[in-house]
Amino acid sequence: MVRKGDAKLIRELNRSIILDIIRKQGPISRAEISKVVQISPTTVASCINALMEDSLVMESGTGVSSGGRKPILVQLNPNDRFLIGVAVNASKITIAAFNLYATVQKKISHSLRNETYSDVCDFLITRLKDFLAGFEQKDNCLGISITFQGIVDANKGVVVYNPKLNMSNVSLKDKIEAALHIPTYIDNDTNGSLLAEKGYGHYQQAKNLIYVTIGDGVGASILVNDAIYRGYLGGAGEFGHTTINFNGPVCECGNIGCLENYVSWQATQSRIEEELSQGKQSILSDVLKKKGQLTIETFHQAVLQQDPLALSIMDNIAFYLGVGLVNIINLFNPEKIIVGGELANNNPYFIQKLNEFVLKHSLETHTENFEILPSSFGDDSEVIGAASVLLHDLFHSTIR
Ligand SMILES: [Zn+2]
Repeated sequence: MVRKGDAKLIRELNRSIILDIIRKQGPISRAEISKVVQISPTTVASCINALMEDSLVMESGTGVSSGGRKPILVQLNPNDRFLIGVAVNASKITIAAFNLYATVQKKISHSLRNETYSDVCDFLITRLKDFLAGFEQKDNCLGISITFQGIVDANKGVVVYNPKLNMSNVSLKDKIEAALHIPTYIDNDTNGSLLAEKGYGHYQQAKNLIYVTIGDGVGASILVNDAIYRGYLGGAGEFGHTTINFNGPVCECGNIGCLENYVSWQATQSRIEEELSQGKQSILSDVLKKKGQLTIETFHQAVLQQDPLALSIMDNIAFYLGVGLVNIINLFNPEKIIVGGELANNNPYFIQKLNEFVLKHSLETHTENFEILPSSFGDDSEVIGAASVLLHDLFHSTIR
C-alpha cells in the first residue's frame, strides 16, 4: 500500500524498482532505465548514486551513443554485499551466504534433534554467530532471511505456530536483531520457495501459481494475480492440515485424517518400517539393518532401482497428494503447480505420477495447458527460498 505524500516510502519504492531493472537488464544506461520505469532522469540519477554508495550497483563500461557522448552503463555489483539465508525445518537448520543473484557462496547444515538444543532460538543465534565469524566484512551483510514451516507473521517477524518445533508466538525477528544487530526477515518456508521461483526460477512469468512442498511437512503457497494470498491472519496455505479422511489418525494439529499424515516423510518412514516388519521383501530392509534408519535419499534410490515396495509406497503418496492437488486445482485454477520439498526433489517418477493423477481427476477445463512441475532449484530450493524473502524486499516492493 503506497501512502500518498510519504516521500521516504516513494524513494524506497523507486530505489527497489530501479535496482530490479538493473538486476534484470543491466548493464544498462541511466537514460534507458528512466525510459523503462518511467521515472524522471534526475530521480534515476540520484537513486543510482545512492545505490552506488551502498555498493549495490557499479558502473561498467559505455553503451552505444545515440548522437552525443557514449552513455555510461550501470550493473548490479553482486559480490560486494552478501546476505544470509536460513531454512529451518523439523530436522535441520541450513545456513548459507548468498550474493545478490541468489547464488549460494557458502553453506552449512546442523541437524535439529531435541537433544541438540533446548531453545531453538538460542541454538539458531549461536549457529548464526559461528557462521558470521567466518566473514571479515560483517558490515557488508544486508540482512538475515529465515524461513520456518507452519504459520509465520512476516510483517511482525513472529513464528505464530510451529508444532514440530514447539513454537508458538515467538518474536524471532526481534530476538535475532537484538542479538546480532543485523536486519532480519522471517517468512513461511513455502512462501519463500514461491518467491524464489518468481525471482530466479523457470516460472517467473506465471501470475497464478501454487507451490506445494512435501518433506517432513506439507505446505502450499498461493500466488493469486501476482500477489501471495496470505489469508486473514497470515495462515493461508496449511495444505498439510486439510482433512482427507475423517476415519484417519489424529494429527498433531488436533484434527483427524490430515493429508500430512499420509504423505509426509515421517508417515512414509513408518509405513516402510511397518511393511518390512510384516515380511515384505525390499532392498530397504538391508539399508535399515545396516544404517539403523532410512533416509529420503535411500528411499529415492530404491524408487530409482524399481524396488517393488518403494514403488508401491511412492505410488500411494502420489495418490494421496494427488487427491489434495485435485482439490487445489479445482478451487484455484492455477496456471501451474510446482511440487518441491525433499520427497519431490530429484524424483521425476513422482512428478509424472502426480501429473497422471490430476489429469484424470481434475475438471477438464482446469487442466488445459496445466502442468505439475518440479522446483527450479532441487535440493537448494529451501535455502534459496529463505534468501528470496530478503531479496524480494530489496528488488520488488510492488509484489507482496
Ligand atoms: Zn493436522
